Parts: sequence; structure tokens; C-alpha cells
Amino acid sequence: MRPSPISATVDFEANGVQHGFLRLPYSRDDSAWGSVMIPVTVVKNGEGPTALLTGGNHGDEYEGPIALFDLARKLDASDVEGRVIIVPAMNYPAFQAQTRTSPIDKGNMNRSFPGRPDGTVTEKIADYFQRVLLPLADIVLDFHSGGKTLDFLPFCAAHILPDKAQEAKAFDFVRAFGAPYSMKMLEIDAVGMYDTAAEEMGKIFITTELGGGGSATARTASVAKRGVANVLRHAGILKGEIEAEPTKWLDMPSEDCFAFAEDGGLVEFLIDLGGAVDRGAAIALIYPIGRTGVEPIEVRAKMDGVLVARHNPGLIKSGDCCAVLGVEVQI
Ligand SMILES: [Zn+2]
Repeated sequence: MRPSPISATVDFEANGVQHGFLRLPYSRDDSAWGSVMIPVTVVKNGEGPTALLTGGNHGDEYEGPIALFDLARKLDASDVEGRVIIVPAMNYPAFQAQTRTSPIDKGNMNRSFPGRPDGTVTEKIADYFQRVLLPLADIVLDFHSGGKTLDFLPFCAAHILPDKAQEAKAFDFVRAFGAPYSMKMLEIDAVGMYDTAAEEMGKIFITTELGGGGSATARTASVAKRGVANVLRHAGILKGEIEAEPTKWLDMPSEDCFAFAEDGGLVEFLIDLGGAVDRGAAIALIYPIGRTGVEPIEVRAKMDGVLVARHNPGLIKSGDCCAVLGVEVQI
């Protein structure tokens, strides 16, 4: 396979703090020999594990970029034993445009792995993570939130994996992150995900869903900042005690967790995030908006659970994810 067209202006093997860019040539109307400049920080001090920290995999999710731009400016090499690679906005064109996918090629970074060195801009970024950055990492933390069209209870998550030792280590990191909720996460479609790429390489991979609605709150931003520091402490890269609040563990036992809208309209949620619902009960009503005098359609729970994610904003389309339920479990 041809080499990546991306070149880093930082040296991943050098000790100290370096702020630079992953530079991806991108010739276009407003810049003939131009580039996409993806900010990156590397902090290295001697030998030790490598943490790869990413936000902005989806461009309209903000807790990760807030925590990582903040960490990148504060971290001293003398604080670190090992290496920290920080990319606050992985799909940088999407982040600049405040959209989930890239405005250049409509690429969804988390459906683009393993990527291609001769593909679209998004595929070229994915390929660089696949073949250059992931192999450097021992622990990978990828921040997500709901973006403009979902809102989540704040949780850190890992996946059930075939390798039980790898899975147990990942859940130890989830516990260390110390979010208000911790999740055993089920994906709707794991093909092409960064998560899957990292896990198949044998890396410890954890992710988050920390809120949503196209912005971050003071609470969710502070959960993100505290969580990333805790992860680095648990990895032995930073010194100090883990500062976690008690977490509630959630499981997504089956596809029955997901409730999709079959009709479009005005959505009224009957429970809020964290609220409980019984199997068969209505989670939300969808009012047809074309005329008055029409009964709303009920979106019903297919299992007992608590509401962990909901559609955002107020109108919904057929096929949209309306609600996600989880089950509280004792770990
Ligand atoms: Zn996301």
C-alpha cells in the first residue's frame, strides 16, 4: 500500500512538548496547493505507555475537543511518564464546519476505517490513524457526545470483546474515567468504526457519550476533563490519585434498546434522560404536524430500562433514532 499523504510536523519519538499539525495536502478552488491542518500535541518523557486521545471524530460533539484543547496547553513533559498524543479534532474539516460529517466529502470518520491513502480526505485521515497513530498506542480514548441530533446521559463505555483479558482492561479504564454512568456498549453497526479498528489491533479502547444537542454544558465538560486525567493516571502516565464520583453501570443487552421513529413529526418525550420506563409503555409521542385533530403516534419501549439517549431537537423524521434504553446493572 502507498504511504499516507499526511505528514506530521511533530516527532512522535522526541521527548518534550510539541504542538504541531498533521498536514494533509488538499488541492481546491481557494487554495491550489493547500492543506488540511489537523492540530496535534505530543508530550513525551522517557519510557512508558502511550495514550492516544481523540475528540472531534464527529465534528459537532464538543466535550472531547474542550477537554483535549485544555489538556494540550497544560500538560508538562515533567508530569508525564511515557507519551500522550492529543488530537482534539480528528475530523478537522467537520469540526470547523460544526457538522457530524466532513463538508468536503460527507465522510463520517467513524464509518471510514480502515481508510485509504488514495481515498477521500476523510478516508486519508482514517488511514493515517489506522497505520501510523494506532500502532503507537497502548490505550486509546475517543470522546463522543450526541451531536446535534442526539442527547445522552454522560457515560464512559467499552465494548464486549472476544478477548476477555482485553475487555477486562478496557472496563478497568472505564471505571477509572469516573463518569456519572458507565456503559457496556452495543453498536448498531460496528463496521468501519475507529473503535473496531483499535480493538482488532489489540489496543485498550474506551469511548464516551457525554451529552449532546450540539454543545457542551459546564457539567459535561468537567466530566470530560476529569475523566481524561483519570485515564492517564490509571495508565501510569500521570501521577496522582484518581478522582472519580460513584458511577452507575448500564448495559445494552440487545437490539431492543433502540427505538426508531417510523413517522415524522413533533416529538414529545414522556420521560427525561435517566428516567425509567416499563416494557410496552410509551417513551415519546410523535404528533403529525400537517394538520390538527390527529392523534399522536406512540413510541413504545421494547424492554424495561432507563432512557440513556434521546432524539434532539424538537422535530423528528421517519428512521431517526428516537430513544435508546439501557439497563442498570451491578458490577
Ligand atoms: Zn460521535
